[in-house]
Amino acid sequence: MKVVIIGAGIGGCTLALALSKMDIEYVLLEQAAAFQEVGAGIQISPNGVQILEQLGLGQVLPTFCTEPDFHKYSVWDSGETVLKTPLMPLVREAYGHAYYHAHRADLIDALTAGLDQGRLQMNTKVLSVSQDETCARVTCQSGEVIEADLVIGADGIHSIVREQWFRADPPRESGYVTWRGVVDADAISHLDIPVSAYVDMGPRLSFVYYFVSGGKKFNWLALGQTDDPKRESWSQTASQEEIIKAFDGWYDRPRQVIEATPEIFVTALHDREALSTWVADRIALMGDAAHAMLPYHAQGAVQSMEDAWVLARTLALHGDDPLDALKRYEGLRYDRANLIVQQSRNAEGWYHVDTPAEIEARNARFRITNEKLDGGFSPQQHWLYSYDAERAAQGTDDDWRALRAWS
Ligand SMILES: Cc1cc2nc3c(=O)[nH]c(=O)nc-3n(C[C@H](O)[C@H](O)[C@H](O)COP(=O)(O)OP(=O)(O)OC[C@H]3O[C@@H](n4cnc5c(N)ncnc54)[C@H](O)[C@@H]3O)c2cc1C
Repeated sequence: MKVVIIGAGIGGCTLALALSKMDIEYVLLEQAAAFQEVGAGIQISPNGVQILEQLGLGQVLPTFCTEPDFHKYSVWDSGETVLKTPLMPLVREAYGHAYYHAHRADLIDALTAGLDQGRLQMNTKVLSVSQDETCARVTCQSGEVIEADLVIGADGIHSIVREQWFRADPPRESGYVTWRGVVDADAISHLDIPVSAYVDMGPRLSFVYYFVSGGKKFNWLALGQTDDPKRESWSQTASQEEIIKAFDGWYDRPRQVIEATPEIFVTALHDREALSTWVADRIALMGDAAHAMLPYHAQGAVQSMEDAWVLARTLALHGDDPLDALKRYEGLRYDRANLIVQQSRNAEGWYHVDTPAEIEARNARFRITNEKLDGGFSPQQHWLYSYDAERAAQGTDDDWRALRAWS
């Protein structure tokens, strides 16, 4: 069996590594001429770390990741933490794998170091995908045509595979943007910020931040609204003044962090409406191409890793009928990924409530939850973290499937 993967993002690279492990032939096509550093952090929950470890990255991850102790949800004006849920070391004890914070460039380096370079074609933009009863074909900008048994669109939120074979609708604008920056940890050492995962929640504005690069760098995101139209792009820059103005009336920490940041980027946030299917015979979608989501649960890349593992294992287990294997993959992954898309939209609402009454009600709810959990995991954390992609692919995860998904 031969598989063409379109797109060498986190999802496509994870799939390529997983297929190598299963001895399945593949070629990985990427339009960019080289892997470029994206100056941003990424949270990797244990359901993703498990997959990276299965792919042989277990030794390298601790060399560049940090291990946050808690998720801390705090109030914008006083800085009071109203909800604190555990991360490390409890996550490892409970789920067998760490919760990590990483710089994206380090993660991409670790993923691509393991790729078979002979099967990776950079500078290869795919223009179209077609299929008949015998094979699927991709046509590249260079004129090259590549045939395979299956084509997987791992080509991100603007996927041409999605557009050509599933639905040609535009991404959905959330109305929010994220300003973001990475700053040397030394530049903010006077703030004495513990190694946690933070969300500060204010009216129509939140501030998410954590250490990356083994504690040498500090990553932040401010999620808010702006009158200027912004693009869905990782390279658009913004001024300090533009964003600091938005933090008028807040407690000091966000402003101090932003002032220490040399370069600030801004990205308009989009997700996608759910597709009715991700599979058309020999062609399938994964990652953001299948289920682009807002970043509020920090699961987009992790879900692409879960897709990759389940897809590779399903092809290995049911490779005698690859079309059926694709349908099985979809059946195993569709509900979970789409529910997280929906819950990430809901989170945008409760992060950003803006009337004093709504803010007080949300904070009161969080304080009660904090007391009830008493240092334990929330049901949502448990549902996210206890997913085992290997057991899902084997069909032996009835206990996880029996969990109440989200309340
Ligand atoms: C602000 C923000 C914060 C986030 N934080 C987190 C987090 O903490 N944790 C988490 O898990 N997720 C997070 N995410 C989500 C995560 O970034 C994405 O879900 C993830 O990167 C998607 O990976 P992908 O491989 O599916 O797509 P992409 O990363 O978009 O990769 C697609 C690849 O396909 C290539 N490509 C596209 N079209 C073609 C073509 N025609 N031919 C060839 N190649 C092509 C592209 O060049 C690209 O390399 C965040 C997202 C945002 C916006």
